[in-house]
Amino acid sequence: MNDLITVQGVVLSAMPVGEYDRRMVLLTRERGKISCFAKGARRPKSPFMAASGPFVFGNFTLYEGRSSYNLHQAEITHQFMELTKKQPGIYYGYYFLELADYFGREGIDGKDVLNLLYVTMLALLNEKIDDRLVRCVYEMRTMTVQGMMPSLYACVRCQKKVDETGPVWFSQSMHGISCGSCPSAADAFRILPGTLAALRYMVSAPMGKLYTFSVTEEILRELEKVVHAYLYAALDRPVKSLDILKMMLL
Ligand SMILES: [Zn+2]
Repeated sequence: MNDLITVQGVVLSAMPVGEYDRRMVLLTRERGKISCFAKGARRPKSPFMAASGPFVFGNFTLYEGRSSYNLHQAEITHQFMELTKKQPGIYYGYYFLELADYFGREGIDGKDVLNLLYVTMLALLNEKIDDRLVRCVYEMRTMTVQGMMPSLYACVRCQKKVDETGPVWFSQSMHGISCGSCPSAADAFRILPGTLAALRYMVSAPMGKLYTFSVTEEILRELEKVVHAYLYAALDRPVKSLDILKMMLL
């Protein structure tokens, strides 16, 4: 048994392979997104059965095969079993995992995405936070972690710092806000001061405090309008679980 490594990560997806095995996609702190075989994971008494399902956070000991990693040992630190009983919470969860998969790559530092997924799953379980707000926060912070944050502090036209209290427009095509003194883009729409404050919080708050605010319904609607469109514009192929989530929300 050569080249054993232990990584900290989360199972983004798992699919059956052959008669008893599973192929998992892991998002890891140390190696970014990797795929891994869990041999015998679908045998009834396999120690890998629980550890190789989506939403499992843990420490995974792997050995490097010729073309992929193989699971050698797994220590579950968090499983989020309660999430499977939540409707539509579970569909948000699958969508968040797929989005992490979409932007994930092998060989990058997965720490920020891993932490973001962890606090987001906790937020989905928290009855006090609207799932719609969780989705806005997760999407906007994902764009931030991926280096695609919109301009939310300086006007995209005059570059001057924009005060939260003044009139502000958001433009998808300009990737950010414009101030009251500049002509706004054709697709720009005016946003409330509270919407700008919430957007700024989403991109800058420490990960552990990301889900410690609430907004009015009016602001939530504006956030949905800004954030969903901003994220979709960055996707160049469909995200399957998003279509399922939308269907569940009808
Ligand atoms: Zn300006």
